[in-house]
Amino acid sequence: MFEKVLIANRGEIALRIHRACKELGIATVAVHSTADANAMHVRLADESVCIGPPAPKDSYLNIPAIISAAEITGADAIHPGYGFLSENARFAEIVKAHNITFIGPEPEHIRMMGDKIAAKNAMRAAGVPLVPGSDGGLDDPDKALRAADAIGYPVLVKAAAGGGGRGMKVARDASGLAEAMATAKAEAKAAFGDDTVYMEKYLEQPRHIEIQIVADSFGTVAQLGERDCSLQRRHQKILEEALSPALTQKERERIGEIARKAISELGYLGVGTIEFLYEDGEFYFIEMNTRLQVEHPITEQVTRLDLVREQISIAAGAKMSFTQKDVVFRGHAIECRINAEDPKTFRPSPGEVTFFHAPGGPGVRFDSAVYTGYRIPPFYDSMIGKLIVYGEDREHCLARLRRSLREIAITGVETTTPLFMDLLDEPDFQRGDYHIHWLEKWLG
Ligand code: ADP
Repeated sequence: MFEKVLIANRGEIALRIHRACKELGIATVAVHSTADANAMHVRLADESVCIGPPAPKDSYLNIPAIISAAEITGADAIHPGYGFLSENARFAEIVKAHNITFIGPEPEHIRMMGDKIAAKNAMRAAGVPLVPGSDGGLDDPDKALRAADAIGYPVLVKAAAGGGGRGMKVARDASGLAEAMATAKAEAKAAFGDDTVYMEKYLEQPRHIEIQIVADSFGTVAQLGERDCSLQRRHQKILEEALSPALTQKERERIGEIARKAISELGYLGVGTIEFLYEDGEFYFIEMNTRLQVEHPITEQVTRLDLVREQISIAAGAKMSFTQKDVVFRGHAIECRINAEDPKTFRPSPGEVTFFHAPGGPGVRFDSAVYTGYRIPPFYDSMIGKLIVYGEDREHCLARLRRSLREIAITGVETTTPLFMDLLDEPDFQRGDYHIHWLEKWLG
């Protein structure tokens, strides 16, 4: 096992990783920007190193500074968390080249899945069903028109290097296609420095269903069931459920097995998530995330496994602590992303948290790095906490969600907590009857 792990992240996920390390008897090194000198992840870690000014490119994305911090402190592994450098194949390679273990998959798998076109080709070859779409990148307008005709409108133009819902544009007919292509390309160029785009059939009412997988270096691969992440705003997840209220047990087993086989064939290592859209009983692969996901705790609640602990031990060369037959689902779990944002306009609301009280009691977990007196910096993601609630069934989970949302006290900044209270009163949500475009329509 590792002796010391450097956590190349901040906020709640840095704490989550710190906790797993401590339970494994591993010392932790926090890195932080000057804006995060008083952050909880810095206070809790055994050691900390300032790696630069507030802007992410100068600190949490600053590879030389992070590698130096690992060398100075003698860390034997780096955990990238999610976001920042977690899906940067080059970073994984550099970490390796310094004889430090990257807690994640092999760089080749990160690179393959980071290119959505290559990812789709690999998944097709592994027998995974795809959204009907163009077979590769589209550069000239004629090729795009022919591809759209073959697929049938509406179509979605997507960035090959995409992430975070950026570089995605719908075209409802041929006249809108040129504009969708131009906008998606411009957005992709600005966000990823690569304007390669491809095309998919735009699904009107699908659900977002993703399968959690875990694989070790001894050839054991397990799938831990699905998460339903259909409640989204601007392609960003807001609330997630495990398991999905929409799947039958048969569908669950079918898609889980497809995912497990694909991972096995790819020879993938560690934790990962295969994302699908699901409509009218069919699954369509959209992408694979080669890292820990924000919403991993709901899977932990229904499987009673510790994904971060598994991830770290697998990277250290150990066997997984379980196999597929040990994976038994129990109860229902929901996660609400609590953002420091105005709940109506979604404008970020950074500033000082003048009072903070976390919800608690049976079945309630609050993953957050917030404390009374904490100043939320304006430079990073506005998610400040994740309320994760477990119940014996979905109804029980919803009752606990309602009472725990009322227990959260965060003053000084606006948060999205009221949004979830309103959502709980919504009959469609109560029935679990929603799709990826539902929330935006509901918000108006
Ligand atoms: P990103 O990497 O930017 O997150 P994804 O491919 O994972 O991009 O898609 C993000 C979200 O965009 C999905 O969860 C879904 O809401 C929407 N989306 C993606 N592809 C399609 C599609 N073919 N039809 C309709 N919605 C889509």
